Amino acid sequence: QKPTVIITGTSSGVGLYASKSFVDRGWYVVMACRDIPKTEAAAQSLGIAKENYTILPIDLASLESVRNFVKDFRAIGRPLTALVCNAAIYMPLLKEPLRSPEGYELTMATNHLGHFLLCNLLLEDLKNSPAPDKRLVILGTVTHNPDELGGKIPPRPDLGNLEGFAAGFKAPVSMIDGKKFEPVKAYKDSKVCNVLTMRELHRRYHESTGITFTSLYPGCVAETPLFRNHYPLFQKLFPLFQKYITGGYVSQELAGDRVAAVVIEQPYRQSGAYWSWGNRQKKDRKSFVQQVSPQARDDAKAERLWELSEKLVGLA
Ligand code: NDP
Repeated sequence: QKPTVIITGTSSGVGLYASKSFVDRGWYVVMACRDIPKTEAAAQSLGIAKENYTILPIDLASLESVRNFVKDFRAIGRPLTALVCNAAIYMPLLKEPLRSPEGYELTMATNHLGHFLLCNLLLEDLKNSPAPDKRLVILGTVTHNPDELGGKIPPRPDLGNLEGFAAGFKAPVSMIDGKKFEPVKAYKDSKVCNVLTMRELHRRYHESTGITFTSLYPGCVAETPLFRNHYPLFQKLFPLFQKYITGGYVSQELAGDRVAAVVIEQPYRQSGAYWSWGNRQKKDRKSFVQQVSPQARDDAKAERLWELSEKLVGLA
């Protein structure tokens, strides 16, 4: 039987192209998505053969939906070899926070809390799987890291002392640090949480389970619909800016292939690592393990984030 990977958010962008790359490499893909017809059309548009994937519904913003997804996945009876947490929302123009069914701010609920619950539940499936090399990969981004050029543009991520999480993260609280709502910062904060979660998973479970936990920054994939909630002019200029000025531009095909490589290839079997190809893309540039931002490598913060997240998703 083919090895099976679950990928969240495969209706477009990095997740869609990663699905194609996995299938090309002989894997079976479980696409975890909230819009089934859209995902089906997207898979068909890339010519992904039907026998190589299945689409199961998940809304990462809803804890109940995440739990139902895990039940649905178990019902298909395929052992799990890898999980890729890829789905995300970025809503830079919001003036007021949107809320998840539980009442949490939507960006953090989708990008971090939903994935946090999913990772915790599927850890069991990875443990029970007979696959010899099991991996859990969470997408990161350069904007999580103010030490790098791509991360210097304000607002910078800042989890504070997680005051917002400690206060229950419901209205009027909308940010993890308990401060004023700022949608771009909410995205960056959520991506810091993704890296902290990966590192804490590694610290807690790598040795006892042998699972490899990693993150990656695939490059600036400027043409994905991630930027669909931005000004139209931005959407036009951003890919050109990344292509010709910063040199950070990466095609969706290449980004998707990088995700599959990190999950499948041997050199990436290094638990706790955050992989990057740098900010300036050069042909055949090699990947390397990159140091994450000071906040994202703060072990005490990772532990506290874990404990508070457990409470918010109902695991503790
Ligand atoms: P896209 O917007 O193209 O893809 C995001 C995916 O997530 C879509 O399939 C979307 O589904 C899905 N999604 C959103 N909300 C939910 C939800 N509540 N439940 C289930 N699925 C959901 O963006 P990208 O491909 O660019 O981004 C993918 C990942 O790559 C993200 O983690 C992002 O942070 C990361 N990344 C992207 C970079 C870039 O330059 N683009 C750079 C660095 C990292 P739907 O179609 O239903 O909205």
